Amino acid sequence: MNSQNLESLADQVADLIVNAKRIIVFTGAGISTESGIPDFRSPGGLWDRFDPDDFTYQKFISDASSRRKQWQLLWKERLTGEVKPNPAHYAIAELDRLGKLDCVITQNVDNLHQEAGVPDDKVFELHGNMQWVVCLHCGRRYSLEQIRTRLEAGEEVPDCETCHGILKPDIVLFGEALPEEVFSEATTHASNCDLFIVIGSTLIVYPAALMPGYAVDAGAKLVIINLSATPVDDQATVLIRAKAGEAMSEIVRKVARKTAG
Ligand code: ZN
Repeated sequence: MNSQNLESLADQVADLIVNAKRIIVFTGAGISTESGIPDFRSPGGLWDRFDPDDFTYQKFISDASSRRKQWQLLWKERLTGEVKPNPAHYAIAELDRLGKLDCVITQNVDNLHQEAGVPDDKVFELHGNMQWVVCLHCGRRYSLEQIRTRLEAGEEVPDCETCHGILKPDIVLFGEALPEEVFSEATTHASNCDLFIVIGSTLIVYPAALMPGYAVDAGAKLVIINLSATPVDDQATVLIRAKAGEAMSEIVRKVARKTAG
């Protein structure tokens, strides 16, 4: 997309934002690739190199060797290195400061919306949050930092210090149901918004992919910012094929200008 084209599409989205009252931002893996987090489903991503069948919830809870494998993979792929929010995350947080954000619904587990400054209670995490680890037996929660320290000390499969129950990252594994309460609250918000902005999701993972439909059915306008096609592109009022950081920075700059003047 050339810069002039992006500029004019960003201007249209900024107008939609200025005129909307309840805006939802829906984000997927594509917003966090710019922070260096791999999109598991892309070519070269995690599921090109590993078999998702080895990483199901059922295997995690029933098979100690699978559990070790899953912890090792998480450790290797997700627990090392510093990951920081990128301009797209900051642009969304800026929308909130401008009083334009109802909530964020995200498929991501990386905590980057909160780190960028969106309040906790405005982020609905459909697939959980990697910052937390939970005991499946007694429910005790541990921070990722606590577990990281134990893994670094050589523990392969950490268990609960209180009851020796199975510890699981507080994220939704394959074959595991979505957190019901979060999903139902997110659905309520989606059904009551007037502008729904999809950023960096191909909208193919169900039931998360139903969210834009709830919004459109309720009469909301739809904006899609994604590098590849989605199943609901034809329903979008504005469709932007650009990187999330670039597009969102431009959009929020324009919103700030329009609301100031
Ligand atoms: Zn426990």
